[in-house]
Amino acid sequence: MGKIIIFLGPPGAGKGTQSERLIKDYGFIQLSTGDILREAVKNGTELGKKAKQYMDAGQLVPDDIIIGIIKDKLDELKDENIIFDGFPRTIPQAEAFDEMLAKEGKEVDKVILFDVDDEEVVNRLSGRRIDPKTGKTYHIIYNPPPPEIEVIQRDDDKEDVIRKRLEVYHTQTKPLVDYYKKRGKLVVVNANNPPDDVYNQIKEVL
Ligand code: ADP
Ligand code: AMP
Repeated sequence: MGKIIIFLGPPGAGKGTQSERLIKDYGFIQLSTGDILREAVKNGTELGKKAKQYMDAGQLVPDDIIIGIIKDKLDELKDENIIFDGFPRTIPQAEAFDEMLAKEGKEVDKVILFDVDDEEVVNRLSGRRIDPKTGKTYHIIYNPPPPEIEVIQRDDDKEDVIRKRLEVYHTQTKPLVDYYKKRGKLVVVNANNPPDDVYNQIKEVL
């Protein structure tokens, strides 16, 4: 493994959008637990069957399942620079991750906190659309898809589930801010700004 970067922040903060840019411009690899879970749900695997009920309700999938996914993935990865997008999301996940990395003589390099207001998150997620063929993310107002592309909306991007996911972020994931601050890993970017500005802030950090 090369550099290990964590993108921390609420759903809709723009983590996936910024990952797309780093992948394209610098060859980063993105590891999104949300993408892995959605793929499993789509394919109807055992993992997908277990995860679906939690995802539909806007709740977190149990830690042991998520930690198992990451363990498998870490074994496959070699010297790439990796962005962890949406993982870890709880203190137990962060502790398990630190342990896994320590066994390889590695550690997290930087945690980039996407600081964004709740109302902005609701606007972004309710307008988010995905191209199912490429996985590329659009927004009906901020970044409209070209007319020839038939986009879809994620099942959990509905207002009531969005509010639930935000609440889950504040109670279960936000404690990670202190966790990584104490370890000297945390960097904050203002994610309320337009995508180009956020990207410039991230490039300065990396
Ligand atoms: P996350 O991966 O953190 O859940 P996304 O990258 O999918 O968030 O972004 C959520 C929505 O907001 C998408 O529709 C995306 O096009 C839009 N978006 C992302 N970054 C910005 C930004 N800086 N300003 C406005 N809209 C944005
Ligand atoms: P995301 O694509 O990051 O918005 O994640 C979508 C959903 O997948 C979340 O609402 C959770 O139900 C689940 N999920 C993704 N990553 C994790 C994680 N690290 N821990 C627990 N649940 C997760």
